[in-house]
Amino acid sequence: MYSNSSLVTFRLLSPNFNPRNSDIDTITIHHVAGNLSVQAIGNIFQPRERQASSNYGVDTDGNIGLYVEEKNRAWTSSNPQNDHRAVTIEVANNSGAPNWTVSDKAYEATIELCTDICIRNSIPCLTYTGTPDGSLTRHNMFSATSCPGPFLQARFPDICNRVNENLINSIRGTDLDTFVNVSVNGVVSQIPAINRNGFWYVHPEFADRPVRLRNLFATLDMDVSWNEQTRTVHAMTKAKG
Ligand SMILES: [Zn+2]
Repeated sequence: MYSNSSLVTFRLLSPNFNPRNSDIDTITIHHVAGNLSVQAIGNIFQPRERQASSNYGVDTDGNIGLYVEEKNRAWTSSNPQNDHRAVTIEVANNSGAPNWTVSDKAYEATIELCTDICIRNSIPCLTYTGTPDGSLTRHNMFSATSCPGPFLQARFPDICNRVNENLINSIRGTDLDTFVNVSVNGVVSQIPAINRNGFWYVHPEFADRPVRLRNLFATLDMDVSWNEQTRTVHAMTKAKG
């Protein structure tokens, strides 16, 4: 089920959107290329002929505006495929070209908003690979634009680290009394795990970032399956030949 962030303090819905055709698994951070309030950003997205919008905006005072509900695809990144799967955020700048800096308040509010988006949409962790394969993407991956500007772009790895730290902390402190089974070539052991929004994660005491159980063996050459009834991850070495 889609929802909107409770961090929103301003709401002005834009007519520029479509229903999503995909689940949300990505966040795209843009810059406004101007020092606009959440109200002023919303005003830009009001005319239909503008054919532009974003799900959220963050201004220099750290206010968060909603323009396109998360259940809908905003018109932000010059790439329908990205915007169907992404929640898009426009962040106001407190300086112009060439650096396009953003304020500390805007930066911190953006990290809080990204954390909230990940928790509500069960995005297990935010990854930045510099390509559209990561769960944090940039406008200039899809079109010739300066967006998100050098200041924000240089901080994408930091944004991921900060959000992932928040995600770990959001599940830390849960008891160590829930276990799942991990079966490796038939040898079964038990490890502490927690369930969030229907997905199983390695207990944060044993991981430095949120790790989905079904992804535990993703980098190994093994066949991996998950049995919800027995709460078991089955990993088998692939047969050769
Ligand atoms: Zn942009």
